[in-house]
Amino acid sequence: MLAAATAACSSNKDEKPAASGATSAVTTSQVADTGKFVVKYDRAMMSDLAKTGKQVTQDNKVIEELAEALGSVYKLPKDIPVVGTECGDFNAFWDPTKQSIILCYEMFGVADSYAKAQSEGRPDYYNLYFDGITRMITFHESAHMAINIYSLPSTGREEDSADQLGALLQLTEPGHGDFAGVAAAADFWFDLSDNPSALSARTFADEHSLTQVRAYNLLCWDYGAVPDKLEVLVTQPGQREQKGRLPYQRAVGCPDEYTKMRASWETLLKPYIKVELGIPASGSTSTSAHATHSTTTTPTR
Ligand SMILES: [Zn+2]
Repeated sequence: MLAAATAACSSNKDEKPAASGATSAVTTSQVADTGKFVVKYDRAMMSDLAKTGKQVTQDNKVIEELAEALGSVYKLPKDIPVVGTECGDFNAFWDPTKQSIILCYEMFGVADSYAKAQSEGRPDYYNLYFDGITRMITFHESAHMAINIYSLPSTGREEDSADQLGALLQLTEPGHGDFAGVAAAADFWFDLSDNPSALSARTFADEHSLTQVRAYNLLCWDYGAVPDKLEVLVTQPGQREQKGRLPYQRAVGCPDEYTKMRASWETLLKPYIKVELGIPASGSTSTSAHATHSTTTTPTR
C-alpha cells in the first residue's frame, strides 16, 4: 500500500498555468490582498485509507489550520480553494487549471498511520510528526501555487524549489512543531524512502529528487537555520554515519546554504507575502515572524 507512496505532488504537466494578466503589474505596484484560502472537504467514497484520512482531517479541522497558516503568509488577489479530496493514491498537488491546492485524503491517512507507528511509547510525537509532514507537503504545494499565480522565475527544478519554500514556511508557521517540525517531515521521507536495490530509471528520472535526498535537504536547511540548537541532527567526525543524521561534511555548509536560500526566496516573494520568511540567519528566534505567528492551538490529535 505504501510502497508507491513516495512521490507526492504529481500534477498534470500538460495543463498550462492559467493566464495571469495582472502578473507583470503586481511586481511593480501594490499586490492586491483581497482573496483568502477557502477550505473545502469533498466526500470520501472508495477506500478505507481515504475515509480514515478524511475523518482525522475533518474531525481535527486540519485543513482549516493549514488554510489559516497559508492565509497569514500570502497576499492573494483572489480566493484559492484548499480542497481535501479522495485521489486514489497518496498525493497532493497544485491544480493550475482550477487554481486550487488539492490535498488528498490518502496523504493524511498515510501520515496518520505513520504518526501512530512512530509515536508508540512517546505519544507527544504524534502531533509533531503528523503536523510536520502535512504542513511540509501543504507548504510545498503552496510554493507551486506561488510560482504559478505570481509568475515567479525559477532556475532549478521546480520540485526542489518547492521543497525549499516548504521548509522556510514550516519555520515561519511551525504549528505544533517549531523547527522540530521540519526534522519530523524529514523523518517521514526517511520512513517512506525507496529501497536502494529497487531504484529504477523512473525513480532517477523523476522530477522530484530521491526521497532520501529530499529528507537530507530538509535536515540541512533545518540545521542551517538553528545550528546552535540542532547539533543532534549531525553525525560528528569520528562517529559512524547513519540514516537520518546529516553527515558533518554536508552540515558544515548548511548555515550558508540556508542563508542564501532564505535571502533568495525573500527577494522573490517580498511583494507577495505578509511575513518574514523562516528564522533569521543569526539563529535567534526572538524577533522573527516565526515567533509572532506560531499557532497556539492545543494539540488534539
Ligand atoms: Zn511539488
